[in-house]
Amino acid sequence: MKRKTNKKISPIKLIVFDVDGVLTDGGYYFNEEGKVTKKYCGRDIDSLRTLSKEFKVIFLTGSKKINQSFGAYVGIETYNSDNKFKFLKKYCQENKFGLQDTLFIGDAPIDLECIDRVGYCMCPSDAERKVKDKVIEKKGFVLIKKGGEGIVEEVIELLTSYISN
Ligand SMILES: [Mg+2]
Repeated sequence: MKRKTNKKISPIKLIVFDVDGVLTDGGYYFNEEGKVTKKYCGRDIDSLRTLSKEFKVIFLTGSKKINQSFGAYVGIETYNSDNKFKFLKKYCQENKFGLQDTLFIGDAPIDLECIDRVGYCMCPSDAERKVKDKVIEKKGFVLIKKGGEGIVEEVIELLTSYISN
């Protein structure tokens, strides 16, 4: 499959993952007591730990309840905001990261402003149409994998292939 970009991914310092629909398939399980659970891909756990040795990695979710527990399990800081770009801008200022040196991976309209304003972006292959269009417009990567299928592995492959020395 031919990638629709020529842009090299090299100066990335911060990697921000949306969680639902990216690290999960976006689905929910409801048990008889009405409790909600979600499924995460086991392979992402190792991949996220590998990735966080090289880059600052954070989760930025619109719904922290279960995702916060996943973040704690994997050892990734997890933040919650319904205005993700506003949060990210402040986070970058406070932690001395440039938006241009940031890779954002998201799947839904709530992620559009971040995708538009950071230097590098990706989305799963089953992201919403508008998101895929924006990622293509920004010369980012529409991943081959769907959300929840272990996309972090593919992110690492791309970063390894496209990091310039
Ligand atoms: Mg999402």
